[in-house]
Amino acid sequence: MTSSARPLLNRRLAEFGTTVFAEMSALALRTGAINLGQGFPDTDGPEEVREAAVRALRDGRGNQYPPGPGVPELRTAVAAHQQRRYGLSHDPDTEVLVTAGATEAIAAALLALVEPGDEVIALEPYYDSYAACIAMAGGTRVPVTLRPREGRFRLDLDELRDAVTDRTRLLLINTPHNPTGTVLTREELASIAELAVERDLLVVTDEVYEHLVFDDAEHVPLATFPGMRDRTVTISSAGKTYSFTGWKVGWITAAPPLVTAVRSAKQYLTYVSAGPFQYAVAEALALPESYFTDLRTDMRAKRDVLASGLEEAGLTVYRPSGTYFITADIRPLGETDGIAFCRALPERAGVVAIPTAVFYDHQDMGAPFVRFAFCKKRPVLEEAARRLKNAR
Ligand SMILES: *Cc1c(COP(=O)(O)O)cnc(C)c1O
Repeated sequence: MTSSARPLLNRRLAEFGTTVFAEMSALALRTGAINLGQGFPDTDGPEEVREAAVRALRDGRGNQYPPGPGVPELRTAVAAHQQRRYGLSHDPDTEVLVTAGATEAIAAALLALVEPGDEVIALEPYYDSYAACIAMAGGTRVPVTLRPREGRFRLDLDELRDAVTDRTRLLLINTPHNPTGTVLTREELASIAELAVERDLLVVTDEVYEHLVFDDAEHVPLATFPGMRDRTVTISSAGKTYSFTGWKVGWITAAPPLVTAVRSAKQYLTYVSAGPFQYAVAEALALPESYFTDLRTDMRAKRDVLASGLEEAGLTVYRPSGTYFITADIRPLGETDGIAFCRALPERAGVVAIPTAVFYDHQDMGAPFVRFAFCKKRPVLEEAARRLKNAR
């Protein structure tokens, strides 16, 4: 221990000392409440994908350091997926990089592309690692707030335009969006793309929920818009799509100079990871279309169970078009402080949720919103829905 008065945690990270997830998970454990706070599934992904991992382990594939960019089988499978689904063609050797989950991809992209003093625009509320990674890169985050209007959280394009300055380096976009469940529309994405081209900005886009879109919503990668292919780093991951969040297999697709830049940072973070799992995810990416359709159908039904429960409990629900989260407004219950509400909810109703305020810089704007995860078994969600009637 140092005896000086200087804090141990450096200034860049001082505001990120603890996360609300730890507090809420501890509360869930102590009270026996149903944990709809943290977003991980309570059922593992497909048996055949798990078996593929076992086979790779047994056959000695990936037990030693895999190649820095990722095993060729996975890079080829990622490129094939992008081509098949979105018509995006990527060279597996120069335009795909495997990472330790999307988390490392985000960190490596920001550490590689952001110079101290650069401004990074992120949609608020934002995924919690964005703020910390921008800070680690020495950048300044500039939040643009998604505002609830007519049933969904929307991006105000004028506000986005006004947020761009001469110091803006990149736009950090997330669609389908955690925590609001918004899927940016083709029109919104086209405007983001136009702005990026006009102001010559890089774009890092987190698309880990690309397969979790419901009803009429459609996921369109930003990289497909005119002028975007060469300025966009597209991030995805196996965690959410295949319900293997513990495997931490993610990837980026981008033009060669961007992949090279991101790889320069990535090689000193983990270097490589998850060898045998990379082979298994290569097989997962080649699953028939029915896998993705069934995943969506199952998640949509779960969404509806939880959404109805929350509505019956009296909250205003923003029924998500994507992701496995529901953001709800607690004001109809006469409550205004989501943090206090979430601290009381386990005792009151036996359910744990996350106050969305922690994902905002403008905490006042996020104060009345609470996030619930619905990637849980049907009976768990049904029981949560029953219990939530005691939330008043
Ligand atoms: C879960 C999540 C991630 C992290 O993905 P990993 O592959 O588990 O690292 C990144 N971004 C968003 C928006 C997420 O919800």
